[in-house]
Amino acid sequence: MTVVKVECVRGNIAEQRDMDVIVNAANAELLPGSGVAGAIHSAAGTGLAEECRALAPIRPGQAVISSAHQLPNQHVIHCLGPVYGVDEPSDRLLAECFRNALLLADRHELTSIAFPAISTGVFGYPLRDAAEVAMKAVVDTLEDLNCVRFVRFVLFSDQDLSVFNKALGVESRLSGRQR
Ligand code: ADP
Repeated sequence: MTVVKVECVRGNIAEQRDMDVIVNAANAELLPGSGVAGAIHSAAGTGLAEECRALAPIRPGQAVISSAHQLPNQHVIHCLGPVYGVDEPSDRLLAECFRNALLLADRHELTSIAFPAISTGVFGYPLRDAAEVAMKAVVDTLEDLNCVRFVRFVLFSDQDLSVFNKALGVESRLSGRQR
C-alpha cells in the first residue's frame, strides 16, 4: 500500500512554494474575486485570468487545471464549491471538488497538492461540516491515486486549523478501523 501524507497547516494558499499544485476556491467564471481567488490571482498576475477565460464557466463540484503563472507552483486547480443552502446536495458537491481535484492532479503526475477550505468563506458552508466532508473525500480518494503523495490543507486562522486537525484525526481513526 502506498502512503499519502495528509496534513493541516495555518497559512496563505498563495504562499505554498513546496507544493506542485494549489487549489483555488474559484467562482464559476474563474475571475479574481475575493478571499482565496483574490489572493491566488493577485500572486499569479493577470496571465492567470486570461488563461482561465477559455476554461470558464465551471459548475459546482467541477475541477479544471491551469498553469500557475507567477505563483511558485507548477499548476493551479480551480474548483467551484457549492453555495451552502443553494447548490444541493451541498455535501456531495463539496466532496466532488476534493475528489475531482485529486484525480486531476494525479492525471497530471503531480505529487503534492494544497487545498484551502473550499466553500467556507463567501459560500457560507459551516466550517466543521466542511472539514468532515473534505477529510472523508480525501481519504476515500487515496486508493485511486498513483502519483499524489502529499495533501495539505491550508487554513487561514488557528481556529479553522484546529477544526480541520480534529476532522483529520477522526477520519484517520475511522479509516484505520475499516482496514
Ligand atoms: P468560497 O467562495 O469557496 O467560500 P472563500 O475564498 O471566500 O471561498 O473562502 C474559503 C476559505 O478560505 C475561508 O475559510 C477563508 O477564511 C479562507 N481564506 C481566505 N483567503 C485565504 C488565503 N489567502 N489562504 C488560505 N485560506 C484563505
